[in-house]
Amino acid sequence: MADAPLPGPPLRPRPARGGLRRRLRARASGLAPSDLVVALPVLSAAAWLAGLPEVGVAIVLALPVAVLGLSALHRRRGRAPKGPVTRAAVTRAADGMIARADAAGGGLLMLLAGIDAAFAGEDWTGADADRAMDVLATRARAALRDADAVFRLGDRTLAVLVQASRRADLDLGLAVADRLQAALAEPVPLAGRVWRADAHVGLCSDVMAPERSGAGLLGGAACALDAARVHEAGAVRAFTPELRIDVETGHRLTRQVPDALAEERIVAWFQPQVEAGSGRLRGFEALARWDHPDLGLLAPRQFLPAVAAAGQDVALGERVLRAALAALAAWDGAGLGAPRVGVNFSLEELRDPRLAERVAWEVDRAGVDPDRVSVEILETVTLEGAEETILRNVRALKAAGLRLDLDDFGTGAASIAHIARFGVHRIKIDRSFVAGLGAPDGEADRMIAAILRLAAELGIETLAEGVETDAQAARLAEMGCAQLQGFAVARPMPLADTLAWARRRAPPAPDLARLVPAGRA
Ligand code: C2E
Ligand code: CA
Ligand code: CA
Repeated sequence: MADAPLPGPPLRPRPARGGLRRRLRARASGLAPSDLVVALPVLSAAAWLAGLPEVGVAIVLALPVAVLGLSALHRRRGRAPKGPVTRAAVTRAADGMIARADAAGGGLLMLLAGIDAAFAGEDWTGADADRAMDVLATRARAALRDADAVFRLGDRTLAVLVQASRRADLDLGLAVADRLQAALAEPVPLAGRVWRADAHVGLCSDVMAPERSGAGLLGGAACALDAARVHEAGAVRAFTPELRIDVETGHRLTRQVPDALAEERIVAWFQPQVEAGSGRLRGFEALARWDHPDLGLLAPRQFLPAVAAAGQDVALGERVLRAALAALAAWDGAGLGAPRVGVNFSLEELRDPRLAERVAWEVDRAGVDPDRVSVEILETVTLEGAEETILRNVRALKAAGLRLDLDDFGTGAASIAHIARFGVHRIKIDRSFVAGLGAPDGEADRMIAAILRLAAELGIETLAEGVETDAQAARLAEMGCAQLQGFAVARPMPLADTLAWARRRAPPAPDLARLVPAGRA
């Protein structure tokens, strides 16, 4: 089974938001015109006092020229490249810079930064988003040197060209990517709200490129950006020939998605959720799996980008929902006593204005009580600035009687007020906190304790995700977390296996206990 993501792991995880780094950089960025207005008269007076009046005069005469020159330089550095340009324009600029690199014995680096809303579901469309992109382009420009260039390429991509005085190697690429991401991570206050961006970065240099030309660099950087986008926000990838193969595999998967769905090779597996103290079964979460004929069993992170690229999110969601509803019937038929099933909804599905209606119809058609179906949405979907369609869908799903779970809770900074307003039934504490339980700094323990207190006060159920060890399970139960999900309980499994799993762990039936004559137990 191919468990590595397609394409491979990111070179760099999400960078720390670069407030401090950025301030330090701003301080080091050199003289401002105002500095000269103060400094030159002081120098001139000093020259007079030192008995060199002609030097003083020269300094005074030089003042306006120096101030004008430095102002122009500052304007140039801060100049915003407004609006998007074509690929051809970027290619031409890169060709020119390769020629300059050749003349100077240096190199050239191209970075493509793919901009996304930092919080899932945040609305980044329309004229204001366009202005926010211009602000980001200006920031990127200010973080680079004069010889470098920044363009907006399409709606949500920045193309950055860096003229290197030496060979443009991976270290240099990563250093520039870091600087760029720090500059882009600063929030943009605009049009009455705060815009927050995350950037995936793909990079390619004249030595890495499949062909040493502007087009070669752009093709390589685009391929690397495609690969970075498979990973979490902030991922950076550099172009390599293998990457091209990985990305091609991604494109191949994209082409195969419709058939895989039609032929039921993309299916739902199920992972149990149990009560923390008693171990009693509370339900299952439905998780998609692709049984690929060549690549083996693929996990969602390996194929969800292909499903999205194929425009099949809605079809996948429908498949998994139907499987989840059928599973409830199967569990009921086998007397398993699984009260609920949880289903994940992607942002793309939540953007479908007819989602709530479709889901309600499917649930009704299956003859299932809607209260037995939990809709799992990311915590960040509830944030301010979320798209109206998404909010409407979530409200309508609740109104139809389905339950609401906040997934990956603790990673997205949703406020108490929002959770309360959303009428969330359960929060699923993100597995990063569970993994940190018992660490010396005690941060994860404190965070989980705070989340549990908050949930108790709001009357919301809690479930801890990613519980891998019995020790974690015991600690969470002790802390008052009501439900657990994770490898310590069971890994996700096909529907057929859930029945065997439940039978294996079922406590002895009370009827059997009664059959054993007293005294012989
Ligand atoms: P999620 O909703 O947070 O699902 C939980 C993930 O954690 C699952 O990964 C599960 O296999 C994994 N997991 C469970 N217990 C443990 C544990 O103890 N340790 C560790 N390290 N991991 C554990 P999976 O199945 O690979 O799914 C990944 C993500 O893909 C899901 O994260 C969910 O966001 C998405 N996803 C899965 N199925 C669907 C689907 O049908 N539709 C949509 N839209 N997204 C899906
Ligand atoms: Ca989930
Ligand atoms: Ca989760």
